[in-house]
Amino acid sequence: MTDADTKTNLLGMPKSKLEAFFEAMGEKRFRAQQVLQWVHQWGVDDFDQMTNMSKALREKLKRVAEIRGPEVIFDETSKDGTRKWVMRMDNGNSVETVLIPDGERGTLCVSSQIGCSLDCTFCSTGKRGFNRNLTAAEIIGQVWVARKAFMPYEPNADRPITNVVMMGMGEPLLNFDNVVDAMNLMMEDLAYGISKRRVTVSTSGVVPALDRLAEVTDVSLAISLHAPNDELRNDLVPLNRKYPIAELLAATQRYMGRLPDKRKATIEYTVIEGVNDQPEHARELAVLLRNLPCKINLIPFNPFPESDFRRPSMNATRRFQNVLNEAGYVTTIRTTRGDDIDAACGQLVGRVEDRTRRSQRYISVQQVAP
Ligand code: SAH
Ligand code: SF4
Repeated sequence: MTDADTKTNLLGMPKSKLEAFFEAMGEKRFRAQQVLQWVHQWGVDDFDQMTNMSKALREKLKRVAEIRGPEVIFDETSKDGTRKWVMRMDNGNSVETVLIPDGERGTLCVSSQIGCSLDCTFCSTGKRGFNRNLTAAEIIGQVWVARKAFMPYEPNADRPITNVVMMGMGEPLLNFDNVVDAMNLMMEDLAYGISKRRVTVSTSGVVPALDRLAEVTDVSLAISLHAPNDELRNDLVPLNRKYPIAELLAATQRYMGRLPDKRKATIEYTVIEGVNDQPEHARELAVLLRNLPCKINLIPFNPFPESDFRRPSMNATRRFQNVLNEAGYVTTIRTTRGDDIDAACGQLVGRVEDRTRRSQRYISVQQVAP
């Protein structure tokens, strides 16, 4: 057994758990606040640097605990500023994390699982099957790595990460407790201090978990709908056979209704040529969503080798959007970012894993935009 097997990793512990950890050690609860700041605000992973704690306490911590983040095996910045990391987790599998800068905003797209069990027909993560849930440390570790990459901060510079979306690999609501712990750290003032409006769970529709979520948090919500009727959605999102559209939208209404402030749900709609991209689909969608305060995000399908689906033309996507706009919806089309580094959903990990396997060494590349 190595030390890593016996030591408690403090990286993924939200404040309440860290406080309980210190209490169990016979220490004061406020130590949790100090550790949170060192680890998450300053990116420190060495107890010796935590100078507002006594030497004796630091030695004690070193014996039982550690701050262990993921190992970065790939780090590249696209010409358009999109930055992508591939991080190796404990059992050797990798996940990807993408940072998309947009003006003053920086949106980090975080993974929740290695693979995914839900097998949506248009998703390359789903095609790889499910490996395991990420721990809370592995989820927040992605934010930790990304934030550390921008340290030390320029005093008046924009913050590099203003938003987090759980839209990387995996279905966040099937890794409920770890995702909630990690999101609590994202929103914790002593850690990342990101507003609850700017932390978003994206789900393909795990209805019972959505109701549970409403009881423990009030982050923003994105629903991966992709079809205006059950017949089509059953084909694209197999989970729909268990939780059909009416149930999903009712759960979405319930979740949004419980939020203390007025917010709109985001409806994600991956537009696939000849499958769900016709004006009649848009008209049906407009009717379906008429009672839900929402904005609609159209994502032109990102092709990948194992899929026969095709990306629609921009004209077809705009035609689809116009129907929704005329019906009064706020609609955006997600532009493809980081094309030169394959920053679209689920595209990079395969390549890096192949490359590392072939060359038997880790790759760490950094190409800074000219
Ligand atoms: N499992 C969650 C979150 C991860 S997927 C969910 O399904 O919501 C994040 C988003 O990327 C989802 O809206 C998903 O439908 C979309 N997506 C997956 N594969 C895609 C592809 N090949 N092209 C375009 N969007 C895709
Ligand atoms: Fe899983 Fe989301 Fe991909 Fe569906 S779209 S297979 S739920 S990651």
